[in-house]
Amino acid sequence: MSSEYDVIVIGGGPAGYPAAIRAGQNKLKVACIDEWVNKDGSYAFGGTCLNAGCIPSKALLESSELVHRAQHEFAVHGIKVGDVSVDVATMQKRRAGIVKASTQGITALFKAAGVTGLQGHGKLLKGNKVEFTGKDGKKEELTAKHVIIASGSSPTELKSVPFDGKQIVDSWGALEFDSVPKRLCVVGAGVIGLELGSVWRRLGSEVVVLEALDSFLPAADGAVSKEALKHFKKLGLDIRLGAKVSGADKSASGVKLKYTDAKGEQTLEVDKVVVAIGRRPFTKDLLGDGTGVQIDERGFIKVDHDCKTDVANVWAVGDVVRGPMLAHKGKEEGVMVADLIAGKIAEVNYKTIPSVIYTAPEIAWVGQTEEEVKKSGRAYKVGSFPFLASGRARAMEATAGFAKIVAATDDDEILGVHIIGPMAGELIAEAVLAMEYSASTEDLQRTIHAHPTLSEAVHEAALAADKIAIDFPNR
Ligand code: FAD
Ligand code: NAD
Repeated sequence: MSSEYDVIVIGGGPAGYPAAIRAGQNKLKVACIDEWVNKDGSYAFGGTCLNAGCIPSKALLESSELVHRAQHEFAVHGIKVGDVSVDVATMQKRRAGIVKASTQGITALFKAAGVTGLQGHGKLLKGNKVEFTGKDGKKEELTAKHVIIASGSSPTELKSVPFDGKQIVDSWGALEFDSVPKRLCVVGAGVIGLELGSVWRRLGSEVVVLEALDSFLPAADGAVSKEALKHFKKLGLDIRLGAKVSGADKSASGVKLKYTDAKGEQTLEVDKVVVAIGRRPFTKDLLGDGTGVQIDERGFIKVDHDCKTDVANVWAVGDVVRGPMLAHKGKEEGVMVADLIAGKIAEVNYKTIPSVIYTAPEIAWVGQTEEEVKKSGRAYKVGSFPFLASGRARAMEATAGFAKIVAATDDDEILGVHIIGPMAGELIAEAVLAMEYSASTEDLQRTIHAHPTLSEAVHEAALAADKIAIDFPNR
């Protein structure tokens, strides 16, 4: 194994592995070190996202959505399926297979881009050197002109309800349940709580979601949060807001959770608890003495707009630095840094990072919410179009939700797009592209959208912003 590189990336998740691939594409000599170990003891590139996050959660969301549709929607189509039952073992085998194919794909991508993949622990040392500890425990000192840290994040533990890996689990544990818990509590009504709460609810669990805040999905546009809450309630998610969890008593029959809400002290007995109250930057054993890399008060590695740390030629990207903890945000940062190192011009536009919650209906947005625009004082207009008026959505039996555009009154610039409805996560891509090019609603209005498609909802919302929608009465 060579010990001198142009670039060493520490972390092979969705921020680190794309950085390594782009560095390889830029003809730099690059190694990517990753220490992820799966529950069966196998090493795998791909980080949280591929092994225990984005990919396995979407596999289970897809399976459970099919179950739900078979149980509740097929009859409308005249399809008779009788009693629908789920073989959880098969569902989980499929999930594991998708994860394996995805993570093994990275090894192939590394080979194609000339990246040396090293499985084990990486530690940044003073003088921009990296100590690599291999699977066998052997240590080796590597040197690199540039080091990119992409060490990711880990789940936040709730001190009063500590993880035990069996009854009280994190999101990874909740992705690998081998049977459907009869009674499930999810602490935290964030993205993970809603996605995994939906999975197990659709598969038959009674799900209670305890959320500390009094408001529901405050990061989303107000109209979207309101609509989403309605649909989650319809699914049967028992979402309790303003619920502060204070402790858990475990017994063989389950977990008794104590929490307080507006009505006072409450208890809740369940079989399993998933704690999903956010994630923290992961920097354990990452930095040797005197490296000079600074960590802020919240534990994130301090970086500037270009992901440069305080130390020359040491960069940091992904969940371990400020900004939304999203795979695509980390990927763009990783690619940007690899290009900057190669002397190219590169930048991440933090204003156009889309957010997607993969529930049913799906939720997606980019840019500012109506509340944020209102607060900014800029004069604005809003166009909204319900999927109920979309021929394609009706044909799909998926008429819940709407597309909404918030645009400036003065120059017509699109400031935010908010979608709740079928395939919202796909539809938002058009809005991201439009905003990336500083498009106006008129640009969207004059863009031809195929009929009948769900994307017409975005088109009609743009028209509605000027009260010229065709397929829905203008207000
Ligand atoms: P990570 O993916 O955490 O990868 C970091 C890697 O570095 C890990 O493999 C770790 O083992 C390794 N590492 C750390 N320190 C060292 C070291 N010293 N030496 C060697 N290796 C080290 N985001 C989305 O955009 N869309 C989604 O749908 C989505 N779904 C999610 C679902 C769940 C259940 C969870 C938990 C997260 C989800 N996320 C999603 C968030 C997404 O997974 C993260 O934003 C993303 O993985 C961050 O990428 P990263 O490369 O910064 O870190
Ligand atoms: P989150 O920040 O999305 O939500 C955490 C929720 O827990 C918040 O609503 C918060 O108010 C609540 N909370 C905090 N402390 C609490 C307490 N003591 N009791 C009850 N509620 C409490 O975090 P998450 O859902 O854990 O997800 C972690 C990260 O993973 C997020 O940053 C998210 O972006 C990412 N993720 C993204 C996706 C996606 O893009 N579809 C999916 C899953 C996870």
